[in-house]
Amino acid sequence: MTDLADLTIAQARAGLRDGSFTSIDLLDAAQRRAAVSEPHLHAYLTIDREGAREAAVAADRSIADGDTRPLVGIPIALKDNMVTKGVETTAGSQILAGWTPPYDGTAVRRLREAGAVIVGKTNLDEFAMGSSTENSAYGPTRNPWNTDTVPGGSSGGSAAVVAVGSALGAFGSDTGGSIRQPASLTGTVGAKPTYGLVSRYGLIAFASSLDQIGPIAQTVPDAATLLEAVAGWDPLDATSFHGDVPAISRSLDAGVGGLRIGVVRELVGSGIEPDVLGATQATIDRLADAGADVVELSVPAIEYALSAYYLIAPAECSSNLARFDGVRYGLRVDGATTEEMMAKTRADGFGPEVIRRILLGTYALSAGYYDAFYGQSQRVRTLLRRDFAAAYDQVDVLVSPTSPSTAFEIGSKTADPYTMYLSDICTIATNLAGDPAISVPVGLGNDRLPIGFQIMAPALGEEVMFRVAAEVERGAAFVERAQLATSEVVTP
Ligand code: GLN
Repeated sequence: MTDLADLTIAQARAGLRDGSFTSIDLLDAAQRRAAVSEPHLHAYLTIDREGAREAAVAADRSIADGDTRPLVGIPIALKDNMVTKGVETTAGSQILAGWTPPYDGTAVRRLREAGAVIVGKTNLDEFAMGSSTENSAYGPTRNPWNTDTVPGGSSGGSAAVVAVGSALGAFGSDTGGSIRQPASLTGTVGAKPTYGLVSRYGLIAFASSLDQIGPIAQTVPDAATLLEAVAGWDPLDATSFHGDVPAISRSLDAGVGGLRIGVVRELVGSGIEPDVLGATQATIDRLADAGADVVELSVPAIEYALSAYYLIAPAECSSNLARFDGVRYGLRVDGATTEEMMAKTRADGFGPEVIRRILLGTYALSAGYYDAFYGQSQRVRTLLRRDFAAAYDQVDVLVSPTSPSTAFEIGSKTADPYTMYLSDICTIATNLAGDPAISVPVGLGNDRLPIGFQIMAPALGEEVMFRVAAEVERGAAFVERAQLATSEVVTP
């Protein structure tokens, strides 16, 4: 019999509905998987045994009364920058150690209302700044496919728990690729929705004009189900989109016949590993065989996206993180004056990458440099929007690899931030444009580690994006799972 920890959300839902097992059974299976995998992975920062059990008991009662909502009774995990009432929320930082929020963020509240069972909070790069989860103040998370490698980041914990089966689905946040890149590196599906589609209320802010919450799952339909549960207008987030939510899962079975697909020339050239390029090309060929009209086209401003992002994101973070001053939340290091207390708290509480970003951002925003750095980056952003709009006049979706490489070794990029920043070369432009994008696993590289394929769509184009993603998934028939998930655990 299949271990319940290996089910997709769709399978779990069917089994709950026909009474084959209960939500408590699913939770037990996820927790057993966590007990085996966590010593190797460190993907969870907090496991909420009591809260999860209560939710599962309530879900089983509700299911017995005929509740068939898609997430009722399903064990899911949340990135630890999503604020959860009564459950410690650290954002991977020492500065928030021990902070227990008095409220739920909107996405969290919607998940609880949908009957989901929240298993725990997952590890991340401190304040979501990073691409490997090595910047967590609580130590790195490892990739279940090979524990010498990173799971990507910053939502590395969420990607790892889904890959290994210690939750059936998870949520992360994506500011420059932090859902899609870890999904790519762990053989899971990860989607970044259109900016404004999911409320940011209760998401600890990194760069507010770029941050979006989104799902990580084993399959495209599961990712659609998770996103549907949290999408939609929220009066508590002034940037929330006030209109109809796209029909995210309506066209999953529609195929790609007649769709126009554009391969982004700038993202299939130098800097991308040959086996990643090979898997990308094979996927494109399958889409053409399935009836799509494939063309190669250019989004020229992509060339400047990384530079613009590494000014805009730090600029916004320097302002957002000003609130961590030792007065309101978490850590306080005493000093002779208030100013000294604040300075000591921030020096001790923030890790090196966060300090680097705050310094960069403060510099980019300072008088005399503002126009040359921040102003110029905003102009790049306008150019990017224009280039994407021109591309979407010709095609329905754009495609590329998600990450230039498969999972890299722990420690191999920590000494050189620029090399680490290059991990986001394929994902960052869509955040600057505000558009949605999704990563779907399509195969394994020469190192037997997963490769992800990215599908980008115009704002609110989730329906066509998920439609193409579902075809990519069917075509790739990627069924491999991480070793830790399926065989006995070998001590590394
Ligand atoms: N890796 C990018 C960064 O370090 C993106 C992070 C994210 O999307 N949260 O900023």
